[in-house]
Amino acid sequence: MEKTLAGRTALITGSTSGIGHGMALLMAQAGAKVMLNGFGKPEEIAAARAEVGAAMGGGDAPYSAADMSKPDEVRGMVADAEKAFGRLDILVNNAGIQFVSPVEEFPEARWDAIIAINLSSNFHAIKAALPGMRRRNWGRIVNVASAHGLVASPFKVAYVAAKHGVVGMTKVVAIEVAKTPITCNAICPGFVRTPLAEAQVKPLAEKHGVSEEKALTDYLLEKQPSKRWIEVEEVARMALWLCGPGSGGVNGAALSVDGGWTAA
Ligand code: NAD
Repeated sequence: MEKTLAGRTALITGSTSGIGHGMALLMAQAGAKVMLNGFGKPEEIAAARAEVGAAMGGGDAPYSAADMSKPDEVRGMVADAEKAFGRLDILVNNAGIQFVSPVEEFPEARWDAIIAINLSSNFHAIKAALPGMRRRNWGRIVNVASAHGLVASPFKVAYVAAKHGVVGMTKVVAIEVAKTPITCNAICPGFVRTPLAEAQVKPLAEKHGVSEEKALTDYLLEKQPSKRWIEVEEVARMALWLCGPGSGGVNGAALSVDGGWTAA
């Protein structure tokens, strides 16, 4: 694979699973040194560190156990990445959670957690990482938003609010860094084949009394005209391109990888 990120260092939140893990692997294969973050069983985290480490040329990839719902830990994670690598070139804000419920029954604690993890952690990480990027006069910030950062669906009030917030935050940061070789962009995936999205199929099948296959195409992917999952690598390749050569003119964009969802 072409080493488009040779010499770069990256921190990817929520990279023990799903999209973040796919991005970490691809960026490591492209030559970057990557720090992982996220939860999971110890053996899963160890496996992710070994896999990404092998792509980096051997040894375990560095890892931060920081909880994205805790601002102090977010700041500590950025400091740890700068210490481990000597500098931080690429920040990918990817960690996220979901909860589905009508507004009137939406638990306050779930609202607070989704806003903290899916939205506020991006702010705290960007605030902590930007000074170093400005000093070194180069940086790439990639925020993993969602099609739900551009349009809404029912029963996802906190997630849709947080992801719209991520798209807005991306634009503000992009304008503030516009005269420097730093960029800040958002990726807006549709439904991607990961544990977070796959967990939504079974409840839909039960709710509508249909097979999981039908629940996927008729309900979960109702708005995704391609009627197929987006694959993790398709999202990871967008992040890789945003961090590689030739992407400097793209700033403040919300880039859809959604099988046509937001075009319809
Ligand atoms: P996932 O559940 O596979 O991975 C989420 C990651 O975030 C895991 O590594 C998890 O450990 C980590 N995480 C969760 N809470 C955390 C916390 N408090 N602190 C640190 N890490 C934490 O999910 P995914 O589908 O890969 O989602 C990744 C991102 O992509 C999320 O922001 C999600 O909203 C977004 N997204 C996903 C889809 C989809 O269909 N899968 C679509 C659009 C956007």
